[in-house]
Amino acid sequence: GAPRREHTGSDPRDVLREVFGYDAFRGDQAAIVDHVIDGGDAVVLMPTGGGKSITYQVPALVRPGTGLVISPLIALMHDQVDALIANGVRAAYLNSTQAPFERAAVERAYLAGELDLVYVAPERLSAPATTKLLQRGRLSVIAIDEAHCVSQWGHDFRPDYLALGDLAERFPGVPRMALTATATRATHRELTERLRLPEAKHFVASFDRPNIQYRIEPKVDPRRQLLGFIRSMPEASAGIVYALSRKSVEQTAEFLRGQGIDALPYHAGLEASVRSANQARFLRDDGVVMVATIAFGMGIDKPDVRFVAHIDLPKSVEGYYQETGRAGRDGEPAIAWMAYGLGDVVQQRRLIDQSPGDRAYKMRMGQHLDAMLALCETVECRRQNLLAYFGQESESCGNCDTCLEPPETWDGLVASQKLLSTIVRLQRERGQAFGAGHLIDILRGADTERIRQQGHGSLSTYGLGADLNDQDWRSVVRQLLARGILVARGEYGTLALGESAAGVLKGEVPVPLRRDVLGRGGSAGSRGR
Ligand code: ADP
Ligand code: ZN
Repeated sequence: GAPRREHTGSDPRDVLREVFGYDAFRGDQAAIVDHVIDGGDAVVLMPTGGGKSITYQVPALVRPGTGLVISPLIALMHDQVDALIANGVRAAYLNSTQAPFERAAVERAYLAGELDLVYVAPERLSAPATTKLLQRGRLSVIAIDEAHCVSQWGHDFRPDYLALGDLAERFPGVPRMALTATATRATHRELTERLRLPEAKHFVASFDRPNIQYRIEPKVDPRRQLLGFIRSMPEASAGIVYALSRKSVEQTAEFLRGQGIDALPYHAGLEASVRSANQARFLRDDGVVMVATIAFGMGIDKPDVRFVAHIDLPKSVEGYYQETGRAGRDGEPAIAWMAYGLGDVVQQRRLIDQSPGDRAYKMRMGQHLDAMLALCETVECRRQNLLAYFGQESESCGNCDTCLEPPETWDGLVASQKLLSTIVRLQRERGQAFGAGHLIDILRGADTERIRQQGHGSLSTYGLGADLNDQDWRSVVRQLLARGILVARGEYGTLALGESAAGVLKGEVPVPLRRDVLGRGGSAGSRGR
């Protein structure tokens, strides 16, 4: 083949400039690169877009041998490798989508010392043959990308990652790096332990994305709210709308198209050709709004996404952070907008209850959901709440809805007591439990079929809550759920008292609640109308 530039032994700054075309390292990159080139192990926690790839690619080019990159995203390997080859890097991948002859060629090149980087999926590395092959050549560095996948606490657990704990024994003397954009304390500790990196140096970058404005509003008429939000954005803003189900993705995209917005659907049920055509349009054209399930966005490098909207509640704060993090990677102002309602909470609880996981798993998922609800219902700075979740302290930000339009609060003690005592009475006197809808009907003194049938008009709390409307009561229920004063159970989201209910019933703890103001809208600018 053609003579290749020999990078080995070069200065990392020269490699950065000559191979990648960047003038300088950013943030912790230089420190990480120097540490790994010296042979040290590293744990790198850096938000999406922070520039993790450089931190293993440069050492792989400077140290003798081939850099091994373990990545679960087979779909992205091809693009990553192509981009490297375009920069003159000798890169290849080994995965299950390859034909045997392609694999054989990569193996030969590796053994001949002709590869700077080789990407491998974790399941391939579990095969003893792959380890044997890699042992016959020479590795310069091992980078475990998406390292949070080893955490059983997390939302992305992959059993194949557990086998990566013995890489030090399989490849003694090769520096190892674990990289992730997920950084709760629990995940951090767990990946350090499970990947056996006790001596590693830890590089923890700030998770703040100051240019992203966070906005969360109660869901009333989600389509109209979404439309209003999108129209409040500057003309031709590219955005991603996340929905939970394929059906909702398709219906929402269709609705937006009907309103003159250039929206496209993306979910795993669409034909591969449609998916890639839609993705290509999103990347190429201005102002495309991609309506997608969370399958969309992993590894999509579009810097000028101006907004990310959620019309369904994410399962965890980590998921929310990663999804919203796809906005504003160019550093320009962007908005993360979400509408969420009581139905989301009930639906998520039901999904957890019905999931095949064991009790401990369900408990963890419940805790993830609780943290997400707390973020939605906080009356304090959203960013502060978000960063605190990742173990980072901060001041209130001035760039989220609660900072910009501080929510009004009202004394919700009496209302909460009315609701709680209705639940207690029904349970004690009749052994019954109900979801929010029926309880609110009782409190509002509604005359429904069900109330007549059940004789609930004779309850002492019947009609006691007529001073609040249906939306107000839903807001009360959501906030009590977020604080553990109420818990939702089972398929129908029946409400029961939570751990902190007793103090409220006795009137010992104050219950300041936020007053929901709908349609406060987004920032300046407009997309017509
Ligand atoms: P991550 O894997 O942490 O999400 P990437 O490695 O994909 O981030 O990098 C994000 C973007 O930043 C990429 O477009 C990359 O080319 C760019 N980038 C990384 N390091 C630098 C640097 N030192 N100078 C300029 N741009 C950089
Ligand atoms: Zn704030």
